[in-house]
Amino acid sequence: MGLEEYKGVYVFAQQVDNELSSIAFELIGKGKELAEKLGTDVTAVLLGSNVGSLTDELGAYGADKVIVVDNPLLETYRTEPYAQALTAVINTYKPEIMLVGATAIGRDLGPTVSARVATGLTADCTVLEIGDFPLNPIPGKEDQQKHNQLLMTRPAFGGNTIATIACPNNRPQMATVRPGVMQKLPKDPSHKAEVINFDAGLVENNRYVEILEVVKAVGNVENIMDAKVLVSGGRGVGSEEGFEQLKELASCFKGGMVSCSRAVVENGWLAQDYQVGQTGKTVRPNIYFAIGISGAIQHVAGMEESDLIIAINKDEDAPIFDVADYGLVGDWKKIVPQLTAALKAE
Ligand code: FAD
Repeated sequence: MGLEEYKGVYVFAQQVDNELSSIAFELIGKGKELAEKLGTDVTAVLLGSNVGSLTDELGAYGADKVIVVDNPLLETYRTEPYAQALTAVINTYKPEIMLVGATAIGRDLGPTVSARVATGLTADCTVLEIGDFPLNPIPGKEDQQKHNQLLMTRPAFGGNTIATIACPNNRPQMATVRPGVMQKLPKDPSHKAEVINFDAGLVENNRYVEILEVVKAVGNVENIMDAKVLVSGGRGVGSEEGFEQLKELASCFKGGMVSCSRAVVENGWLAQDYQVGQTGKTVRPNIYFAIGISGAIQHVAGMEESDLIIAINKDEDAPIFDVADYGLVGDWKKIVPQLTAALKAE
C-alpha cells in the first residue's frame, strides 16, 4: 500500500478515570494546525470504558472526528489492551500522522504501537511542523526531496543539541509530544465532532500484568503546570529554608506557586514534582521568576515559553539573562524580601 493512502492527523485522547487529560486538548490544537497545512482534518482516538460522554469536550476543543473504542478491558490503562486497540485503529483508518502525549501512559503506549505497525516514533517532541525533508536538498538530488513531511524536533544528547527528525518512508509518522508545550484552542461548545464507534476486536491477552489495586498519589497534588505565576528557585537559594521566602513571594500572586531547578531536587529541598526542565515539567506561566538559577539549557527548555521571565542572579553573566525579559543582578536575599514587601503593600 502506498504512503499516499494514509490520510489525516490523529491524536490519542488520553483519559484517566474518565477525565480527559490536558494533553489531549493540546494535541488537538497542534493537530489542527498541521491538518490545515495538509488540507485534512483532526481525529481524536478515545479509548476507555464508558467514555462516550467525553466526545463533546473533544469536539469543543477542535476535534473534527472522534473514534471511540469503548470496552471494559480499557477501564484502567494497561499496555496490552490499549496497544491492541490503538493498533487496530491505525491499521483500519490509516492515519498519516499519529500523535501521543509524552505522559507516563503515552511513553509506554506510543513505542509499543509504533513497533506493531512497523513505523518509527520520535519521542518527547517539543516542536512539530510540516516541511520538506531533507531540510536542504542534496545537490543533484533535488527531485528526491520529499514535501509535506512531519518534521519532529526534540532535545537530544542530554539537551546539548536540538534534533529535527522525519519519517519519510513509513506511515503513520508518529511522535510523542511533551505535555505543556503545545497550545490548546479556545473551547467552543458549538463545535461538534463526528463520533465513530469502533469495535477493535479486543481479546483479553494479559499474561503479564494484572491490576490488583489502584492507589492514588497523595501529597503533592498541586501541579506547577497549572500555575499562573511561578517563583522558581535554584541552587543559589541555598537551602530548604530559603524556599520559605520564595513561597511568600509566590503567595502575593493569585495562582502563584514555587518551582525549582534540578539542583534543588537533587539537594532534597523540594520534591521532583516541582522541577522545571527537560527531565522535569514544561511550564508556560504568565510570569516566571528564576531566582538563583544559572539558566542551563536543560532548565531553559522547560520554561522559555513563559510569557514574562524575570531573573534574579548575583552573576551578571549568568545565561538565564539571555532568556529573561527583566534581569535583576544582585543577592536574592536582599531583593526578594523587598519585592515581597512592595507587593504586599499594594
Ligand atoms: P547552578 O547552575 O549551580 O546555578 C546557581 C545560580 O545561582 C548561579 O547562576 C549563581 O550565580 C546563582 N546564585 C548563587 N547565589 C545567589 C544569590 N545569593 N542570589 C542570586 N543568585 C545566586 N536542570 C533543570 O533545572 N531541569 C531539568 O529538567 C534538568 N534536566 C537535565 C537533564 C540532563 C540529561 C542533564 C545532563 C542535566 C539536567 N539538568 C536539569 C541539570 C542542569 O544541567 C543544571 O545542572 C541545573 O539546571 C543547574 O541548576 P541551578 O541553575 O539551580 O544551579
